[in-house]
Amino acid sequence: MNSVLSYLSNDLFIINEVRGRMVLDSRGNPTVEVEVLTAGGGVGVAIAPAGASKGKWEAVEKRDLKNSRFRGKGVYSAVETVNKVIAPLLTGMDARMQRGIDQKMIEADGTENKSKFGANATIATSLAVAKASADTYGIPLFMYIGGITANILPTPMMNIINGGKHAGNELAIQEFMIVPVGADRFSEALRIGCEVYYVLKEYLKKTYGKNAINVGDEGGFAPPMKETKEALDALVKAIELAGYSENEVKLALDCAASTFYNEENKIYVIDKKEMSREKLIEFYRELCNEYPIISIEDPLHEEDFEGFRVITRELKGILIVGDDLFVTNPKRFKKGIEMNAANAILVKPNQIGTLTETMDVIQMAKLHGYKAIISHRSGETEDTTIADLAVGFSTGLIKTGAPGRGERTAKYNRLLRIEEILGNSAKFLGLRAFE
Ligand code: PGA
Ligand code: ZN
Repeated sequence: MNSVLSYLSNDLFIINEVRGRMVLDSRGNPTVEVEVLTAGGGVGVAIAPAGASKGKWEAVEKRDLKNSRFRGKGVYSAVETVNKVIAPLLTGMDARMQRGIDQKMIEADGTENKSKFGANATIATSLAVAKASADTYGIPLFMYIGGITANILPTPMMNIINGGKHAGNELAIQEFMIVPVGADRFSEALRIGCEVYYVLKEYLKKTYGKNAINVGDEGGFAPPMKETKEALDALVKAIELAGYSENEVKLALDCAASTFYNEENKIYVIDKKEMSREKLIEFYRELCNEYPIISIEDPLHEEDFEGFRVITRELKGILIVGDDLFVTNPKRFKKGIEMNAANAILVKPNQIGTLTETMDVIQMAKLHGYKAIISHRSGETEDTTIADLAVGFSTGLIKTGAPGRGERTAKYNRLLRIEEILGNSAKFLGLRAFE
């Protein structure tokens, strides 16, 4: 009877209370916060984020569409579901039994896509349960998840030029990211990323005027650019002016290609040109040859598993990431794995709605040689759970926006604190996280 369970009375982990409330996200839209209290005094709070370029197959985010308050964006019914339905279900359960708790919510919801409870209600509850359990043990969430193996700080993929649905400019591609890999600590990589961000701001202001430094939803600048290469040139220039080489700072894209795909004629419209799938792949090849790009997310539209297979095979050495394609869904991911579509998955817990299912896709990725990138949403909050998930699950990669806007820096700041907690045992893989 030497197990840790025998040292701690099981009663301490009993869930005493689950309380939901409405708070605001970074776009001023209502979202769901859940607070879970255990008998041992543990407290866990988590807030659901929200996407703008949502995948068609994501779990459903419940909003009070017919209610005029908040112009239909309210989450009163999702909060009510937490307080009146989920709370009685989970009260009295052991907070350590994450899989059982999530399973209970999944079964009671009973739908394929969490449309009855709302994934905003279930994810906030699921994460709050894990945090309350960790807090009852008195350890940080990343340690609760990964134990003593959790010591890898993620390489940040920092979105510093915004286009697509996240900005009011004409760039078709949604995210232009820098990846500071030339560092041996997370904090150093973050510093490099910040320096490039400041220099980019000066450069954009000088080149395009002061309107160019307005920021988009994820904190990246949203300059009045029209073409993909203009944005990439600006990044390369900023990296150089900041004093770094192409070996120290790489580039990554999130095309969110469904947003510039025309389903009727099966054509992509990018940089004022119409492109077939084949032409678009050739265009990406050209970009990868001309710029230090190491990763492309959603290069093709969200139904094109076959296209993802082709591009993964064609663009060797580039991370091909499925976000809208996989939507953090084990079933869609399984199909992708079987087809060799993509070689990485973007992991957004609210796309699927529970920590258990999130954990399952990360495990599947590891088993099948896919990279997993923990990610924020364009609508975020001060909640920093994803920073702990990245370290706890040792994904080695995180995507959480520019080093600007409080809801983005909250995650980076949490990672700085985790690095401090880990001290000498903290590891940073840099470019190796992509290999
Ligand atoms: P979203 O975008 O949060 O608006 O869906 C982020 C992404 O596509 O990665
Ligand atoms: Zn994406």
